[in-house]
Amino acid sequence: MTINLTEILYPRRCPICNSIVKKRLICKECLDSLDIIKPPVCIKCGKKLDSERDYYCSDCRSFEKAFVENRAVFAYKGEIRNAMYDLKYANRRENAEFFGEAIVQKYGRYIKGLGIDVIVPIPLHKKRLRKRGYNQTALVAKYVGTGLGIPVNTELLAREQSTRAQKYLNNRERKNNVKSAFKVYENDVKYDRILLIDDIYTTGATLHYATKELMNEGVGAVYTITVCIGRGY
Ligand SMILES: [Zn+2]
Ligand SMILES: [Zn+2]
Repeated sequence: MTINLTEILYPRRCPICNSIVKKRLICKECLDSLDIIKPPVCIKCGKKLDSERDYYCSDCRSFEKAFVENRAVFAYKGEIRNAMYDLKYANRRENAEFFGEAIVQKYGRYIKGLGIDVIVPIPLHKKRLRKRGYNQTALVAKYVGTGLGIPVNTELLAREQSTRAQKYLNNRERKNNVKSAFKVYENDVKYDRILLIDDIYTTGATLHYATKELMNEGVGAVYTITVCIGRGY
């Protein structure tokens, strides 16, 4: 019998209820209680819709987005919201594996069908990256890339200015806040189809402007996936 010391000293814990889990990323009870996004959803942003007769949410009817479409795994609320908070601010990096695996489980086949050349996580500004020590979205993206056998490029896109934390801003401020935030740092972008990954979809402004920057550099199409998504804004 081999003893895994790491597992004894740092046993894996359920990202939701914190109980110790073995050979799985989440405990059975919490898995059953998750609020996973189900149809009907907006065909553009993946946000849950109230009526099956609608194709688009009100936001996508009023604002055009540069990305082809977004899909999300979880509703951004309750326990999932806490697990995301822990990943970002409480150094619970193992939650990234749970979120990455959730994307692979729900959208793996869909992503493979898109013919994606590379997965790119939404970057943090380097000041924030230095403070936090890691980019939570890059961690999630790496698990998705490994799970699906698609390369991940964490260097392609950079965040130019230190944008104020989106959560303190209203919708209009959020959009202006990220308008010129992204910059491509490769002279010759050779990708045609990119999958952008972000942690939370709120207004879609972040993904919209990151997509625009990539397309300015010659990228053909950008699809996006987020771990969580809100309802209406
Ligand atoms: Zn649990
Ligand atoms: Zn929408």
